[in-house]
Amino acid sequence: MRLSRFLLPVLKETPSEAQIVSHRLMLRAGMLRQEAAGIYAWLPLGFRVLKRIEQIVREEMDRAGAVEMLMPTLQLADLWRESGRYDAYGPEMLRITDRHERQLLYGPTNEEMITEIFRAYVKSYKALPLNLYHIQWKFRDEQRPRFGVMRGREFLMKDAYSFDLDEAGAQRSYKRMFVAYLRTFARMGLTAIPMRAETGPIGGDLSHEFIVLAETGESVVYCDKRVLDLPIPDETVDYAGDLTSIVEEWGGRYYAATEDVHDAALFEQTPEDQRLQTRGIEVGQVFYFGEKYAIPMKVTVTNPDGVERPIHGGSYGVGVSRLLGAIIEASHDDAGIIWPDAVAPFGVGIVNLRVGDSDVDLACETAYAQLQAAGLDPLYDDTDERPGGKFATMDLIGLPWQLIIGPKGLKEGTVELKRRATGQKRSLPIAEALAELMAR
Ligand code: ATP
Ligand code: MG
Repeated sequence: MRLSRFLLPVLKETPSEAQIVSHRLMLRAGMLRQEAAGIYAWLPLGFRVLKRIEQIVREEMDRAGAVEMLMPTLQLADLWRESGRYDAYGPEMLRITDRHERQLLYGPTNEEMITEIFRAYVKSYKALPLNLYHIQWKFRDEQRPRFGVMRGREFLMKDAYSFDLDEAGAQRSYKRMFVAYLRTFARMGLTAIPMRAETGPIGGDLSHEFIVLAETGESVVYCDKRVLDLPIPDETVDYAGDLTSIVEEWGGRYYAATEDVHDAALFEQTPEDQRLQTRGIEVGQVFYFGEKYAIPMKVTVTNPDGVERPIHGGSYGVGVSRLLGAIIEASHDDAGIIWPDAVAPFGVGIVNLRVGDSDVDLACETAYAQLQAAGLDPLYDDTDERPGGKFATMDLIGLPWQLIIGPKGLKEGTVELKRRATGQKRSLPIAEALAELMAR
């Protein structure tokens, strides 16, 4: 992409409405535009990161055996009357009436709808286990939308729903999602700790929130520091096998709980120097809720003996749009964002220090073509802004690499390669710089 043909409305000033660093940086880097309280337009740079994050979530869900689909944002109120949640959900639900006076709502979550879909098609245990998911916009009329994408009203969520014949099967489904979440967040460069949690309006018996530790987080959390060093399962993890040991290691070996379920006496069994009380950002939550929706919504399947049984369910959410904020909170410096390679909006930025100088232009164009052909997705700053402004913009938008090409270096046949995360800059021949980038 040529910067001259892109829309990147970076701000020089710090926007006063933004209270936390990720919100400030997303506005300054031209990723986001507020259209109403808690409702944002995703500008091209923000949209690219959102898509990268969404794709990682998708790949790990697919790997764990979940099946993607797409449900609508609008739902019939009657569906929610069946489960009893229409009245219980309260003012967070955006209720809508259409021209025929039919009552609708903008979905805050999809347990009812997926249960209705499942009920329509699945009658036998032979189709189980089944895990269906979608990545769709949700609306919750939050009392206090704030911190940008962290607590929006309209936000993008991945939500998965598992169906099993019995509790043992449902526990296996829960463990698959638990392990998939460990992998998902780690791939984005995040350390997200599963913590025992309250089940809230989703309901149910067992739940973990996945929390990224950050001073700006809205949740108060307590954990044993040793949980931070546990190993992430690699991509050979066998989702068909028994995942109990991984889940017990992450979920049971060390203390980790949110404030709602915190047990001070139990926490005191953790050695004092390992105890950590801090704040965190909830990036995902997994629930096992058993027959909670199956019973009121009459969802049964026949078991191997021909007897009809209510299914056992679970649901599993990831805050896809909130993750942008969480990643920036975890990875930035005074100059701007530092994107982990896996979610960066572009792989490398090419900085032309003298547009109009034919040697520099040619070197930049050649590098641009080659990096593009190699699939590195370069952003080429071909604008006529001054070098200082170009450097500041590149640091602000946080691409992992910068390839800086100017007349002085070129006379000696060199360019500069900068790694955003470390700030390390090296002069080297252009062919070597390109080869190094392409080897990644
Ligand atoms: P919170 O406690 O932060 O309000 P929740 O527990 O109500 O969230 P869930 O129903 O567990 O949310 O939704 C799944 C995920 O969606 C959450 O883990 C979170 O990452 C994300 N999420 C929830 N509400 C919002 C919001 N208002 N804005 C952005 N992301 C959100
Ligand atoms: Mg939650």
